[in-house]
Amino acid sequence: MIAVRFAPSPTGRLHVGNVRLALVNWLFARRHGGSFLLRLDDTDLERSREEYADGIVEDMRWLGLEWDRFARESDRMERYGDAVARLKAAGRLYPCYETAEELSLRRKSLVSRGLPPVYDRAALRLDEAGRRRLEAEGRRPHWRFLLEHGEIAWDDLVRGPQRFSGGDLSDPVLVREDGRPLYTLTSVVDDADLAITHVIRGEDHVANTAVQIQLWQALGVPVPGFAHLPLLADASGQGLSKRLGSLSVASLREDGIEPMALASLLAKLGTSDPVEPRASLDALAAEFDLSKVSRATAKFDPAELERLNARLIHAMSFEDAAPRLAAVGVGAGADAAFWEAVRPNLSRMSDALDWWQVARAPIRPVIEDAGFAAEAARLLPPEPWSEETWGAWTAAVKEATGRKGKALFLPLRLALTGREHGPELRNLLPLVGRERAAARLAGETA
Ligand code: GLU
Repeated sequence: MIAVRFAPSPTGRLHVGNVRLALVNWLFARRHGGSFLLRLDDTDLERSREEYADGIVEDMRWLGLEWDRFARESDRMERYGDAVARLKAAGRLYPCYETAEELSLRRKSLVSRGLPPVYDRAALRLDEAGRRRLEAEGRRPHWRFLLEHGEIAWDDLVRGPQRFSGGDLSDPVLVREDGRPLYTLTSVVDDADLAITHVIRGEDHVANTAVQIQLWQALGVPVPGFAHLPLLADASGQGLSKRLGSLSVASLREDGIEPMALASLLAKLGTSDPVEPRASLDALAAEFDLSKVSRATAKFDPAELERLNARLIHAMSFEDAAPRLAAVGVGAGADAAFWEAVRPNLSRMSDALDWWQVARAPIRPVIEDAGFAAEAARLLPPEPWSEETWGAWTAAVKEATGRKGKALFLPLRLALTGREHGPELRNLLPLVGRERAAARLAGETA
């Protein structure tokens, strides 16, 4: 059974870059009848915060990315302790005493000599007396994983065949000085315990994968499959990191972006499929295929998201729109006719509230020719009104005043709505009603 996970660190809110990976994992699971795990990587106690964990849960739910399983690394410390003990027993973890400053100096000196900044394994050459001397100075060890110096290879589902040489990589630190395990280890222990079959993440993790493959092997557990997606860039090809604040899921939601507009865009970015609005995640899952993801950087354009949002709303059924209308404050009287009337004029769901207020709340009419408006008011037919009313009424006004085209329709629109443009009046007029229409034509705020 296929099992994937999305593993954010609760050190900030989700943004378009990381939520895209959540979505891709979710779609992959749905497409293949597999399970989707949400795992909070919260072992970094200094930077993890409960409010961010809550925010991640809220953002995932808003997008409809429900999880089949949930885990937090902070609940699983014992498991990491077991793995550390096994790696020590197998001679694959060794204590190191260098300070961050010493390591940084060593790296600089290697780089200045044109050498790769790979850890030189100096700590391996320490003998028992040497270690005791350093500990007597008050140093506590951090622990590195002893990499094997052979080839590390995997067939990446997005990047194709990948090859690394263990000798080109630094032995990674798995346990900090204070005894806390680090991501490189915890992630592998979790993926193994939770039987993850495919690790789908950003290409910033490619080098981690090389190292982690040896960890899976050292722990004697099956190595999963991998897919590393190119990161998102802005329209000019620059990384998104500087703008991520404004591209957080929370700010897009507050800004009136529909969850399915965001999902429709993120599911197709950087793939060979065209971006089209889709009404449900299941529709996106049916079209999803990792082999369509290109290796090239995917470009995220907020203007494209805006256009998609408008198109999604224009195509939305009244049934789907009704709860959203209520959520933006449109009154319960808004029916399918109202939705049909205003839908083509919306780029945000909240725009519907403006038109609802034009229909039902007092507005200040714009009257340029009071005589014409009075004549039009006199000709308003008796209620009940329907979509036929507008045609019958304007025909009568045309007949009586001799006006036609824009000279007929624009003053009526300005009087009835206070605006030059807007939804079809044949749909809007019955919602305004006779009493309010007559008052507005008389120049009253009504
Ligand atoms: N917590 C890691 C991150 O946010 C997870 C990476 C992974 O998917 O393994 O980068």
